[in-house]
Amino acid sequence: MAEQMGDKPWFVTRGSKQRAPCWKIEDKVAMIDTSVRKWKCAPIYVINYVEENRHEVFDGAHRCEALIEFQKNEFAIEKVKSVDWETSPLRDYIGKKFEDLPRDVQNIIKNYKFDINIIDEETANNPTALKLLWERLSKAGKPLNNFETMIPIHSDLNTMVLQKHKETWYETEFHPSKKSDRGQLETKFKKLLALSEWEKTPQFASMEDLIVKWSDTVLGKTTEEIEKNTRDKADELNCRLKQTKAIFHELRDRNTFHNDSGETYIDKSKEVPLLIILGRLTYWFPSIPKMKRCIQKVSDYVRELIQKNPNDLCKYLGVNSRNATFQKKLILELDTKFSDFSKETNERRLFTIQEKTRKLEEQNYMCPLCQKGIAPHQRNAGDHILEYCKGGKTDYENLQIVHKVCHEEKNMESKGT
Ligand SMILES: [Zn+2]
Repeated sequence: MAEQMGDKPWFVTRGSKQRAPCWKIEDKVAMIDTSVRKWKCAPIYVINYVEENRHEVFDGAHRCEALIEFQKNEFAIEKVKSVDWETSPLRDYIGKKFEDLPRDVQNIIKNYKFDINIIDEETANNPTALKLLWERLSKAGKPLNNFETMIPIHSDLNTMVLQKHKETWYETEFHPSKKSDRGQLETKFKKLLALSEWEKTPQFASMEDLIVKWSDTVLGKTTEEIEKNTRDKADELNCRLKQTKAIFHELRDRNTFHNDSGETYIDKSKEVPLLIILGRLTYWFPSIPKMKRCIQKVSDYVRELIQKNPNDLCKYLGVNSRNATFQKKLILELDTKFSDFSKETNERRLFTIQEKTRKLEEQNYMCPLCQKGIAPHQRNAGDHILEYCKGGKTDYENLQIVHKVCHEEKNMESKGT
């Protein structure tokens, strides 16, 4: 059909109202792939100039041209990225032109049918109407983004996990907008899940690539695997996203992302670092109590990183630009710090009886907090001089024995500040 059309002088693929051709070989091969798979594509819009007996393509010229040029042997099938070669019927014909293909494949291409919408001449001659139509067609023809492409494959993940968390993240530093029309927020969630999955994040070429790796290894590759694993893991994934949210709030409460006047440091350029920081924190601190023991350290450290402007952060990490290497370096840097912080939280919290007895004697049975004696009938407590929650160690140097009531008072005060 396309071949026949291309030969007819009354059918003009690239008329006066068309842009210059801009399709690359990628796009052309993808179109041939579409035709051989017998997939429908969006309709071609054609203007019918009745008097001149001429049809001019208004929208879809590239698609027509790709089929026409291929049938004229003007290009060969190349192994382009836009085609899934494992499933493509063209996989055995890489390097081949139309004339090299078996007859049955040739016939499928020859007989490929476009849906054609005719634009009447009146519309064609009305610039306002034509512009409006063009705008609508361009909008409808927007290429799918990565999230949209995965909608059919990740439909369970979407409904059982991602959708549940959206509402609470709107209009935050993490997602300043109050909408997610094309899955922007869901995509961030997927990145968070991928970032918080492994102790050692696998090699990746981009954040999108990391999502693919995560989905392939954690959810599986076939539709059945993905469905089953998503159902099995939904609870855990939901927990993890909840934890990310809790961590985010803990940090925010401590002005980690804001200066003293309440202005935020987070802008568009901090989007990726913030995402990576939250993702890795979620891995290292799966529960809030665990995190609370070193929250001040975490907060101080994160504030220092996130305050840096993009160039300084690059310099700090020793990379030239903010590519995948930057992201990997940042992950490495965070992992070193967060794993240290989290080890500290595993330290014992209580002093031993021996330590306490020895210390009490050493203090001459005096309470350093109220400067009064600790009598045998009074209960006492082993107190961290530098509070445990502020990173104080449970060692003999950091121990003092105090009245139990004094201890409680001190704890109340430190909570109040
Ligand atoms: Zn006391």
